[in-house]
Amino acid sequence: MTKGMMAREYQNYIDGKWVGARSGRTFENRNPARYHEVIGTFPLSGKDDVDEAVGAARQAFESWRLVPAPKRGDILKRVGDLLTARKEEIARQMTREMGKVLLETRGDVQEGVDTAYYAASEGRRLFGHTVPSELPNKLNMALRVPVGVAAMITPWNFPMAIPTWKIFPALLCGNTVVFKPASDTPATAATLVEILLEAGVPPGVVNLVNGGGSEVGAALVEHPDVDLVSFTGSTQVGKRISEVAGRTLKRVSLELGGKNAQIVMEDANLELALEGVLWGAFGTTGQRCTATSRLILHEKVYDTFVPRVVRHAERLRLGDGLEAGVDVGPCINESQRRIVEEYVRIGVAEGAEVLTGGKAPEGDGLSKGWFYEPTVLGGVTPAMRVAREEIFGPVLSVIRVTSLEEAIAVANNTAYGLSSSIYTQDINRAYEAIRDIRAGITYINSPTIGAEAHMPFGGVRETGNGHREGGWTVYDFYTEWKTVYVDYSGRLQRAQIDNAEK
Ligand code: NAD
Repeated sequence: MTKGMMAREYQNYIDGKWVGARSGRTFENRNPARYHEVIGTFPLSGKDDVDEAVGAARQAFESWRLVPAPKRGDILKRVGDLLTARKEEIARQMTREMGKVLLETRGDVQEGVDTAYYAASEGRRLFGHTVPSELPNKLNMALRVPVGVAAMITPWNFPMAIPTWKIFPALLCGNTVVFKPASDTPATAATLVEILLEAGVPPGVVNLVNGGGSEVGAALVEHPDVDLVSFTGSTQVGKRISEVAGRTLKRVSLELGGKNAQIVMEDANLELALEGVLWGAFGTTGQRCTATSRLILHEKVYDTFVPRVVRHAERLRLGDGLEAGVDVGPCINESQRRIVEEYVRIGVAEGAEVLTGGKAPEGDGLSKGWFYEPTVLGGVTPAMRVAREEIFGPVLSVIRVTSLEEAIAVANNTAYGLSSSIYTQDINRAYEAIRDIRAGITYINSPTIGAEAHMPFGGVRETGNGHREGGWTVYDFYTEWKTVYVDYSGRLQRAQIDNAEK
């Protein structure tokens, strides 16, 4: 720890109380831009703590589900107000905790604000259906009811936005929550829980359990009293969760990895495409599930466009995201930086050329953080691993193509299908791309990143299992349909039989 700097002791929040782990064990969280700086210590929880949290959530469900949805919405409206009031403070805490620059951490908090207000308004909708009956004097309807106890398992790259995408709609629908944040961003998670409580969420309705994925996360997924799991993270862990949760028939939403491509055609506005690729590839140090990891370039612009990308990537300033003028923060931790280094080595071994970057920077105080230079790999071919696998770091693989068809085929040549982008001025090409790119999200003339809170978010193939977060669609995940038939005929009416007999 830096001399003179006190690390805060954080706790779990279970059944209306802030408590340590039953075991008494803790773990540290450090600033990735200055790894000697300890942000706080957190409970290293285990199965006992999970059992207690799930029990509390189960009990609280019986009263929370009966609170009218507009009232639950009022609480979420207050959550949005409190997040707004504390936006700058939370953004600073988040930058210290996970490294992305203040401009981006402010955006992360704002996404939580937008999600809160959207959820609040949904409290006065949560529409069901009324449907005519096939029989006289009978009314059919389908209502939304909550599912039960929801386990939320989240990654570190959007420490506020992603938990809010899950927790706010879940609560609005009347579910109770056990929240297991990533071990790299537990402080932002604690702040979110504090705000939920201040806004009026009753004891037991939200529970926070810190700790490792293979202990706390796995115990939640296995727990027989957890009804649904919403997970965002790697495809590898997502597959495991899906298998285990399948044994107890839990409802599971998976938002997993990506290998997103930006296509630039020869007719594109190249200035715009340049800005887009720099923001998409190096924003959040490339550690977004929607990061632009591949630039698919038409051969007619390849030789002029690539040097411009390289020149601008070299101008990006690395550093502590709290400092003005810094464009790119560190990787989240040592092991993530090692993965990035390894992928660059793999790319070079496969025949790619490092056009810029390709190493950790030296000097200027950067050696005290997990920094890696913005890297552009040229001469990448579609079969290379750096063209197909998620790297999750500031590395852009550039691939040359000769036509739109080839560009789309290359874009689709990965197991993932989250985000995608095409820059072209030709409306026919844009619509062909919308039709043929296999991805949950396609941007026309904007980068692969930049989701809006009121739109469905998610991907196809190994990016997920068909659910979406955000927008109106997420409310389907957090509710069950209850079908109701009201027969006011005063006699026995037999569906499929009485009608057919007449
Ligand atoms: P990760 O899969 O390592 O961890 C995610 C969460 O799962 C953490 O809270 C972790 O503790 C927990 N976990 C780990 N093992 C577990 C287990 N066996 N059972 C239950 N929980 C377990 O991912 P990460 O490194 O935190 O995040 C990076 C990954 O997340 C990338 O692949 C990225 O693409 C993906 N991601 C996807 C989206 C999306 O919406 N599609 C958004 C952000 C990040």
